[in-house]
Amino acid sequence: MALIVQKYGGTSVGTVEKIKAVATKVIDSYKKGDRMVVVLSAMAGKTDGLIKLARQVASEPDPREMDVLLATGEQESVALFSMAVKDMGFEAQSMLGFQIAIHTDHIFGRAKINQVETDRILKALDEKKIVAIAGFQGLDEKGDITTLGRGGSDTTAVAIAAAVKADRCEIFKDDVEGIYTTNPDVCPKAKKMDTISYEEMLEMASLGAKVLEIRAVEFAMKYNVPVYVRSTFSDKRGTMVVAETKDMEKVLVSGVAYSKNESRVTIRKVPDRPGIASGIFQPVFESGIVVDMIVQNTSEDGSTDITFTVPKPDFYRTMKLVSQVAQDIGAEKVLGDEDIAKVSIVGVGMRTHAGVANRMFAALAAENINIMMISTSEIKISVVIEAKYLELAVRTLHKTFGLDDETKGE
Ligand code: ASP
Ligand code: MG
Repeated sequence: MALIVQKYGGTSVGTVEKIKAVATKVIDSYKKGDRMVVVLSAMAGKTDGLIKLARQVASEPDPREMDVLLATGEQESVALFSMAVKDMGFEAQSMLGFQIAIHTDHIFGRAKINQVETDRILKALDEKKIVAIAGFQGLDEKGDITTLGRGGSDTTAVAIAAAVKADRCEIFKDDVEGIYTTNPDVCPKAKKMDTISYEEMLEMASLGAKVLEIRAVEFAMKYNVPVYVRSTFSDKRGTMVVAETKDMEKVLVSGVAYSKNESRVTIRKVPDRPGIASGIFQPVFESGIVVDMIVQNTSEDGSTDITFTVPKPDFYRTMKLVSQVAQDIGAEKVLGDEDIAKVSIVGVGMRTHAGVANRMFAALAAENINIMMISTSEIKISVVIEAKYLELAVRTLHKTFGLDDETKGE
């Protein structure tokens, strides 16, 4: 008898018919003897609709009241789900974040989970109930309702699974059947993976693969919760996200990730002396802009160029901030480029194999793709290239590292 936490997203519970279908699915697992905890998102479009409503009554809605409002989306879906289960003749109980309690910090709109109490959940399970938990919400130390940030229900599910020591956490997706070696829309040869390590998944998620929320993966890794990503609409085998095994290192590259959401800023001829980098980046960091890659070079005349990337939506703000600093420190000029993309190869096998970077660069060179920036970590190599070559680069790397190979993936 296993203890399973299942999470269904907004589209999977988007209509009353779909809620009933999910109830049937959960009951099927329950009938096999598993103890079932179900974490639900709000019905599709609900959260957006609530945000719209808020904006109709206030130009800048109060953050505390916004979370009180947004939490109602998930309150609705868990209540409807539990009613449906009961109507089918089984016991169910809905639970909201504060009832459980899911303790978070006090940052409304993007609260972090600190701790999850398990008494109520375990008691209901002992009473043979199917437990339906509202995703995306918690309770701060003052007793106020908080929400975790958009897409936060994945994190709720993994946090609950960790707290109740579930055998696994199953994340049901309505758009994909698992984790792929790369986006199948870009590379038709992309394959579904059987397994992927937490670390690889974390890299893939932070590099733009949107299948799992990054915080959910971090939680899973920290508490060693096996996460099974699978399809809501079919029983096909999905992908297990698990701790690294020795076998995984045999594969050099597990996946190719990319992001179109990058822009590049270059400051030409910056005086090369202590304090300059901090002077440039401080205003950028202070305005909450996340800098990704940074490249700096030395040159013989005592000045240097600094190039870095920021998310596209922050490009103009960054250009403005940096242009001001550039003037103050006597740099020559600031250049910006929004037509770039980042492509990365990810694999724990890189730790134990040399020459991966070389193969990557050679493969891109053979396609005449110019590399503008490079960054590496233990299990990842990223390059920045011209945006128009992105899809070619993804397909080229997918092939170069043997991911097109029929024996991989499924
Ligand atoms: N309902 C929330 C959202 O739409 C949380 C979630 O779906 O995970 O972002
Ligand atoms: Mg969602």
